[in-house]
Amino acid sequence: APMEEPIASTLAPSPLPHFVIVPLVEQGHTIPMVDLARLLAGRGARVSLITTPVNACRLRGVADQAARAKLPLEFIELPFPTEIHGLPPGIENVDQITDFSHFAPFFDALPKLAGPLEAYLRALAPRPSCIVSDWCNPWTAGVATRLGIPRLFFHGPSCFYSLCDLNAMDHGLHDQTSAAGDDQEKFAVPGMPVHVEVTRATAPGFFKTPGFEAIWERCVEAMLTADGAVVNTFVDLEDEFVARYEAALGKPVWTLGPLCLANEDADAMESRGDMSGVRRSAVTAWLDAMGTGSVVYVNFGSVARKLPRQLFEVGHGLEDSGKPFLWVVKEAEVAAQEVREWLEALEARTAGRGLVVRGWAPQLAVLSHRAVGGFVTHCGWNSLMESIAYSVPVVTWPHFADQFLNERLVVDVLGVGVPIGVTAPVRLFDDETLPVVRGDIARAVSELMGGGNEAGERRRKAKEYGEKAHRAMEKGGSSYEKMTQLIESLRPQVVVEANKTTELEHCMHAVR
Ligand code: UDP
Repeated sequence: APMEEPIASTLAPSPLPHFVIVPLVEQGHTIPMVDLARLLAGRGARVSLITTPVNACRLRGVADQAARAKLPLEFIELPFPTEIHGLPPGIENVDQITDFSHFAPFFDALPKLAGPLEAYLRALAPRPSCIVSDWCNPWTAGVATRLGIPRLFFHGPSCFYSLCDLNAMDHGLHDQTSAAGDDQEKFAVPGMPVHVEVTRATAPGFFKTPGFEAIWERCVEAMLTADGAVVNTFVDLEDEFVARYEAALGKPVWTLGPLCLANEDADAMESRGDMSGVRRSAVTAWLDAMGTGSVVYVNFGSVARKLPRQLFEVGHGLEDSGKPFLWVVKEAEVAAQEVREWLEALEARTAGRGLVVRGWAPQLAVLSHRAVGGFVTHCGWNSLMESIAYSVPVVTWPHFADQFLNERLVVDVLGVGVPIGVTAPVRLFDDETLPVVRGDIARAVSELMGGGNEAGERRRKAKEYGEKAHRAMEKGGSSYEKMTQLIESLRPQVVVEANKTTELEHCMHAVR
């Protein structure tokens, strides 16, 4: 057990900085941080990514590739805290939670990783240069302070979202609760350079969620005391929001994305997120036979789950659209015999133009395939960033959290999305409502995949953003150069022992 025998580091010392990356143990948070780790290590910086045993199994594929490529990247397994009141043993990732009452104990368990992390970092010589931890892991703040090393927070969504959130906070909207008032009443997010219309229902991140106030406050506190932010976006996508967010935050915002472009080779795409997922060849062989840009891809991320009635509406809608589709359903969604039989019947009816994939799909391999011309997405930021990187316009069906504001960005600002028209979030696990019926899916998919002017314009814009995204990650591109600056600003010799954080802040400001 790691706590009894200290984990030995296998990496040789490097003149470049040593990053310690601490993702939240949730797929949508871990995946981009693993990409970040690969990118930094690819540039020669030493990287230790902190994980736990269950999560390490999923990362085995990435770890093996990193070892084969001789990247200075190691995965450090800390034991997941045990005997947490109200949390069944074995749950180490948000996607293993099947009961709402387990969320609070799960988030109570995570701070208990602070002790083991600190012990591990103290045993390293020399000390690491910087901790990059998820916005939702505020417990790393104390570790960084006690060790005297700088800390950056990684925030999942766009700068557009984070700016909306900061502005809402500054205007006191967080002090109200989402339970109060009419939740469909429209209002504009204060202080934004563009009109961003939301309702209480669609901007849940603005308000304290009952039961989670304390964790929210700790996250905000850790954000305010951090030395900077790392964001999975790029300047050319949202330059105005990047600049305003950086000004509002008052510290460096390192825009290093699209991080998914760390996975250009087939092996990396295949094992991303979960090495035991659906094989790439199983989907690419099918896509290879389809016309360019003809297929609509449908996947709602790693968390959202649909009950059978809603699932059937999606299936009928895809069938009625008449377009070729590749639809990913989760293992948990097809647990019931009734659902499995229904899907088989759908596959029989749509043979030759529909493929239903069960389980974890190699999303990048799909989105980067020339046959894919559209994506029905729940608007998780990673999925949107990936569709932008690969020039795929989207149908937007936000489910919860930041997703409604992400929808505003891609539909209203970027002009690459067709909204499905939902106005309220769904409850995880037990939502019996039917916010989307087959007609909505068929209409939105036909609009997205159709031939009209608007569809053409969306495709043109998507193509342009995809090209800019790739350029940002190439040598000389904005994200590439920002990563160079970040690495340079943290070179071990520039950090003065006595007052590391302040010195670092100077350097960080100086290089920008
Ligand atoms: N993903 C995947 N295969 C799947 C489902 C999801 O590779 O079958 C990846 C997807 O490419 C993205 C991440 O999981 O990188 C999901 O993150 P996102 O922010 O889109 O949504 P979340 O899961 O956080 O709701």
